[in-house]
Amino acid sequence: MILDASNFPDGHQLSAHICIVGAGAAGISLALALEDAGLDVLLLESGGLKAEHETQDLYQGTVSDEHLHSLPDRYRQRRFGGSTTIWGGRCVPFDPIDFEARPWIPHSGWPIAYGDLLPYYGKANELCEAGSFAYTVGKAFEAEPRAMIVGFKSPHFSTDTLERFSCPTDFGRRYGAYLRASTRVTVLLHANVTALSLNNAGSALNGATVSTLNGRTMTVRADQFVLAAGGLEVARLLLSNRDVHSNGIGNNSDLVGRYYMCHMAGTIGAIKLNQPNKVHHGYDVDMNGVYCRRRFALSSATQRQHRIGNFVARLHHPRITDPAHRTGLLSLLYLAKGIIPYEYGKRLHGEEHLSAQAILLHLRNVICDPFGTALFLIHWLRYRTLAKRKFPSIIIKPRAGLYSLDFHAEQEPNPNSRVRLGTLRDALGIQQLDIDWRYTEGDVLTVKRALALLSDDLRCSEVGSFEYDIDSVELEMTRYGAYGGHHLGTARMGSDPRNSVVDSNCRMHGIDNLFIASSAVFPTSSQANPTLTIVALALRLADHLKAVANRRQYVSAANPERAPRNEKASPVPESIT
Ligand SMILES: Cc1cc2nc3c(=O)[nH]c(=O)nc-3n(C[C@H](O)[C@H](O)[C@H](O)COP(=O)(O)OP(=O)(O)OC[C@H]3O[C@@H](n4cnc5c(N)ncnc54)[C@H](O)[C@@H]3O)c2cc1C
Repeated sequence: MILDASNFPDGHQLSAHICIVGAGAAGISLALALEDAGLDVLLLESGGLKAEHETQDLYQGTVSDEHLHSLPDRYRQRRFGGSTTIWGGRCVPFDPIDFEARPWIPHSGWPIAYGDLLPYYGKANELCEAGSFAYTVGKAFEAEPRAMIVGFKSPHFSTDTLERFSCPTDFGRRYGAYLRASTRVTVLLHANVTALSLNNAGSALNGATVSTLNGRTMTVRADQFVLAAGGLEVARLLLSNRDVHSNGIGNNSDLVGRYYMCHMAGTIGAIKLNQPNKVHHGYDVDMNGVYCRRRFALSSATQRQHRIGNFVARLHHPRITDPAHRTGLLSLLYLAKGIIPYEYGKRLHGEEHLSAQAILLHLRNVICDPFGTALFLIHWLRYRTLAKRKFPSIIIKPRAGLYSLDFHAEQEPNPNSRVRLGTLRDALGIQQLDIDWRYTEGDVLTVKRALALLSDDLRCSEVGSFEYDIDSVELEMTRYGAYGGHHLGTARMGSDPRNSVVDSNCRMHGIDNLFIASSAVFPTSSQANPTLTIVALALRLADHLKAVANRRQYVSAANPERAPRNEKASPVPESIT
């Protein structure tokens, strides 16, 4: 069922076998996976069913350099469904090399291997509605689709791996009805977890405090707690609870909030392909109607040989802001940037102010290319605006085979890149986050080497050329700052409590019943977008929690009540319909 905490009486007490904090991709996937386990699950969500300013403002905070990292209330959503209410839906699994301890990448290495997550990736793909777990051309398509660039041969890059696209699925909207009908899972909206109470020894969580913006306070008791509040907010919750552990929960080794990673992303250079009609940079559709796309993926052998991180790149349209592309639609997008949401228009919004002359040139492009623009708008309306499964992005066949390169690279873990508690407090009295995101020379090296290899490979296979200014690589990597919506590493996974926060089961070291389901636990970032792996990890955690519950025999015939078990005899409001 779905209830609203703001309708509960002040002082109410709730209990469940498992309490999950946060109903985004991680929290909802976990709750769904526990639904049939005979356990009472309480899913506490700060937001409501829709976006609300007052709740979103609880995400406000500060950043050391706004040029390098967006303010923390951008690129995340505090509402049922979390940031999947606005995500792009690109699904990519991690590669086996991402889990390895790589001597050339300091602090790399997971305590689990690719094989430990593999059994969960299929179901994760299903929950994301990204079709089957088939991430190579050979597996995804019965007939071989068009080559990305006919004649391109490379010892360093594969063009046979895929990214697949979710609808994009808003987890709240998609699974809300199912959770509403559940007799085992109770979703509590407008339930902000504001405190976590440890026992005196600091070895177990006794309970959590829930506060609402209309002034109610409640307490929650549970056998197991899972923080699924997103990669930044998990750190905030741990750091802001200091009554037993003076540095914050699980922070004896001063690791919570450190190693904060996003991805290194940018658009660079000019790719000129000799035979434009032998290039396919758009989407293919698999037998389930799922959009898939090839890209240049750096092989693990090359990563080892060149001692660099993971890297992928895609053919991309020329820089929109420069009217020299002479494409009506791109100019129209530039001129309409005011109505594009910040998260998707940042590359336009962030651009330096254009001269009146440049604006006139954009207008000329639109006027001179009416058919191209109109055709695109019709396609967009039909396959994006009105479609349930949305066409993932703007694909334009550029004039004269001229493209730019869009890259997405691994950022290495760095203890000095971190989030901390700031001095300001939110409306519920919790200290806001202050974000100090940093990148390293190793990050720049990964991108520089990968670009150089790709340029050589395009030239050597005689399909075209890739020209870029080697001195501008670092500028282009950071032109729009850290990749916005990927918040990783703030409570890293490892086997040694001296250099990690959670163990291989995502349990906080030294705290018996506190787990984390989030990209906060990623020790390294891969080239892959995080959500598929967040969901796979949440499903793996569900199996672990079920095993713990069976071992400890929570599910006893003597206690067949449904969640939330009401310890105080106060009326519980009716389920939201
Ligand atoms: C514009 C954009 C595009 C993106 N595109 C992609 C993409 O293409 N592919 C991809 O893999 N990823 C993408 N992402 C990232 C993706 O959205 C996140 O990885 C994913 O949503 C994280 O899920 P989560 O459940 O860990 O956290 P969230 O989605 O952040 O959910 C956390 C939930 O916890 C709740 N919460 C927070 N604090 C509290 C509290 N104190 N008490 C109770 N509840 C709380 C929040 O309200 C929220 O509902 C994108 C993100 C953005 C912003």
